[in-house]
Amino acid sequence: MSVPRVGVLALQGDFARHLASLEALGVDVQRIVRPEDLADVDALVLPGGESTTMTRLLDAHRLREPLTRFAREQPVLGTCAGLILLGRESERLPGPPLGVLDATVERNGYGRQVDSFTAEVTSPVVGGWFPGVFIRAPRIRRVGPGVEVIAHLTPGPGKAAAEPVGVRRGQAVGLCFHPELTGDLRFHRWFLGQVAGLELPGSAAGENGVRGAAEPVPEGTP
Ligand code: GLN
Repeated sequence: MSVPRVGVLALQGDFARHLASLEALGVDVQRIVRPEDLADVDALVLPGGESTTMTRLLDAHRLREPLTRFAREQPVLGTCAGLILLGRESERLPGPPLGVLDATVERNGYGRQVDSFTAEVTSPVVGGWFPGVFIRAPRIRRVGPGVEVIAHLTPGPGKAAAEPVGVRRGQAVGLCFHPELTGDLRFHRWFLGQVAGLELPGSAAGENGVRGAAEPVPEGTP
């Protein structure tokens, strides 16, 4: 059996943490910086970062069209700015988002960098509770028909309302938060195994997290 190959858009943002999470799951990784880098990948990750810059770089690297085609036909996971790119409407971008997920995403919808926070997320696809790291996070304001909410903020006294923070349509998944910064691999494993239908090599399939557990979120990331 050949080892799955997963691409990570590596123009800007926190792609290195996604590469580390994917490598911990035993798959081969490919940094995507040119259209031809997409040729042999089985699934794609669009990382967090700065969506204005990423949109500009997408066009400068002639990646918009091949990336859109890939994301329409093959498995794609967008986190934070990656979700903004996957969405259908978002304000003040230098170009339109890819429009793969029918959702309206408000940039910095939870506030500015200083309003970044961690919060409990509930998601049945990873078995319940997940530590959500929100950094200048986008807010999902509208979810179109056929788009499934797969994660929401855990409601409770003194906590947030149960609003959506993760969405899926077919093989396209978008998350407002950053699983790659937690050391907990459940979202990556679910995406590769259940969404993309890839077989993970050996024991990686059974492990819950990067050994050494949760790491602190580096300041100012992404
Ligand atoms: N606020 C950023 C943007 O609008 C996204 C932040 C992130 O990816 N953590 O692009």
